[in-house]
Amino acid sequence: MFLSAQARQVDGCEPRLLDCIAERLDPEAAIRQAQAFAPDIVVSIMAIEYFDNDVEFLKRLRAELPEVLIGVFGHLPSHYQRETLAATGADFVLVGEPDLSFRELLERRTAGGTGRIIENEVTDDKKRPLEGVAVMRDGAFTGAGFQRSPELDELPFADQSAIDHSLYSEPFFGHPYTTFQSTRGCPFPCSYCVRSFGRKCVMASAEHVVSEVAAAVEQHGIKYFRFMDDTFTASRRRVLEICEGLRRLDKPISWSCLSRPNTIDGEIAEALRSAGCKRVYVGIESGSQKVIDYLKRGYELEKVMDNLRQVRASGLEMVGWFIVGAPVETPEDFEMSLKLARELKLEFIAVSTLVPYPNTELYELEAENIDFSLLPYVCQFKDQAGTEREAEFYRRYCLRPSYLMGKLGHLVRHTGETVRASRDFLSYVVASRRDFKRKDLL
Ligand code: SF4
Repeated sequence: MFLSAQARQVDGCEPRLLDCIAERLDPEAAIRQAQAFAPDIVVSIMAIEYFDNDVEFLKRLRAELPEVLIGVFGHLPSHYQRETLAATGADFVLVGEPDLSFRELLERRTAGGTGRIIENEVTDDKKRPLEGVAVMRDGAFTGAGFQRSPELDELPFADQSAIDHSLYSEPFFGHPYTTFQSTRGCPFPCSYCVRSFGRKCVMASAEHVVSEVAAAVEQHGIKYFRFMDDTFTASRRRVLEICEGLRRLDKPISWSCLSRPNTIDGEIAEALRSAGCKRVYVGIESGSQKVIDYLKRGYELEKVMDNLRQVRASGLEMVGWFIVGAPVETPEDFEMSLKLARELKLEFIAVSTLVPYPNTELYELEAENIDFSLLPYVCQFKDQAGTEREAEFYRRYCLRPSYLMGKLGHLVRHTGETVRASRDFLSYVVASRRDFKRKDLL
């Protein structure tokens, strides 16, 4: 949606955003739609967990659209530029944040150049290289450096007209639904995190954020949304200002955001709640200080427990994210995580098995204990205790009589949604981590 907004500002560009997952398009249908649109350029994000799936799709797209200029972006393409280009047959990678390099590529493109001729995109008349764009031309590779967007306030609002808002939602929220991203990057030290945008956290001003939400509410009737920022509450002052601005909107809104235990407390929770926030996702990760330290979360559990209890008391729904299967995690540590989740009476939990992603501190630390290959994509610990703990955590937390009784209210108020969520939950618990049919619950 950010790239679509950039394209709309370039004369002669007519963007079309295809979200094949939301639109439930299989590869054949997606390629048919791409052919029917007859684009000059296709740009595709590549996911981490499904990297080889995306490689296969892009190879097919390359074969079906031989004259079209194809580009990709994402965490793995940015770090494995040459390998990605060689494997997919794509022409270029937008390295790092793609907004500005994409915009400049389009501007140079509309000034001249057709088909897969990319000379115009790589150098302008003054032979100035196009920053942030890695290219493969006749087997010759030219790499590029990681781009960051300097000021989010200077980027156009994400293009809300590019998607069908009725296709998106989250549990027990309704439609029309959308997402916003008001920061990029995360300043915290967690060793396992890919930090797609890097460690430097760039923030849109509160005024910009409130204007973007107001525009989506006014122009697209948005009623439900989520701030996708890694840590929406990273700046206390900014989040209080945003909440003050959102309170002044005269339309009802319900929203959610992501936080971490040392950036939220009772005051922040109350500000969020009074501005329409219904749910906060908190990365709790573990109930064991030893595991918290191993993951370099950067706080003491004992000190942040009060914060979490205050959030609990505020009336906000609290969803806890947990990580299981760290090499140092013993069965006792796992039990401590379950105990913490129960003590906080979390509305929902989301549990993931620790993955040692490349280009993270954890990957360096555990290099000897990791199986990694880009193609086919494999990324896991050789010796990982407790890979079955993810499903066990769900079973033992959610299938308790007290939890199920607490959800009876949901069943009465949102019967269809509760039945759907329960079905998704059961298929999630029995599906393996890399099963393409497995849906993300939250
Ligand atoms: S707080 Fe979240 S986004 Fe930030 S570094 Fe830690 S895991 Fe990554």
